[in-house]
Amino acid sequence: MNAFDGLQTVWNLIRPIIDVGIMTFLLYKAYQIIVKTNAMQIIKAGIMVALFYAFAFLFKLSTLLWILNKLAPGFAIAFAIIFQPELRKVFLKIGQNELFTFGNRSRHTYVDTAVVAAETLSKLKKGMLVVFTRHTRLDDIIETGTKLNADISSALLVTIFGHETPLHDAACIVQNGKILAAGCFLPLSEQFDIRKTFGTRHRAALGLAETTDAVVLVVSEETGAISLAYDSKLHYDLKPSLVTKMLENLLGVSAAQRTIEDTIDESKASI
Ligand code: ATP
Ligand code: MG
Repeated sequence: MNAFDGLQTVWNLIRPIIDVGIMTFLLYKAYQIIVKTNAMQIIKAGIMVALFYAFAFLFKLSTLLWILNKLAPGFAIAFAIIFQPELRKVFLKIGQNELFTFGNRSRHTYVDTAVVAAETLSKLKKGMLVVFTRHTRLDDIIETGTKLNADISSALLVTIFGHETPLHDAACIVQNGKILAAGCFLPLSEQFDIRKTFGTRHRAALGLAETTDAVVLVVSEETGAISLAYDSKLHYDLKPSLVTKMLENLLGVSAAQRTIEDTIDESKASI
């Protein structure tokens, strides 16, 4: 037996394992998506139509078959219209690459919550300014805004910054997953060598990073760029995944510290 035959035998042995493994993985992921998106309704409707078809085919009910064949394209369109919300969710899940993520690892900390809001606002081209406190107390700055003392959630941040309401201007102050206040004014940086294009939002983020140890998350209304200011520096236009990592490191937040929003999400998922 030469080396080639040896390889062939090994391949013949592992081929069914790979085959079954991939099939199992795809079925498991499809099952997860079905459970999460209520796609069960689509499947039930599909089974009903298929049963009808099989019945007509088996008993050679030619008129019924003829009608079903004629109506088939219409069925497909009606299907897409009736189940549009479910199909949308299924494609969204696939688009978000859930096919290749295991478990419920993705969004867990209050940092994720803030970064999700930043991504949303960036797409909407709405400005955002969120200050995460570290050791320095920011009582003076909180005094300039409106106290909220609310649990942080992406929905709340998008509501605050996404609409032309009084609180969308200026900054939110976040401490340990609580939005302490919104509409807070920050000291402006007076550095000369920062980009000319930076306006007051970015200067305010940098100004606070120069005078305190806070970390400031900024979304530009003009460009949608997501940036972080801390330790007297502004890191402009970062990828959301990098922002999450940097914030988690800077704030000492681990994935074990879940937000109320995530807990609710997960309890819904487990119902
Ligand atoms: P963008 O890229 O979003 O346009 P920018 O750096 O160019 O940001 P401006 O266009 O000047 O900044 O943004 C103005 C907004 O910045 C104001 O509407 C307000 O919300 C916010 N802002 C300005 N000054 C301060 C401040 N001192 N503290 C907190 N927020 C401020
Ligand atoms: Mg501007």
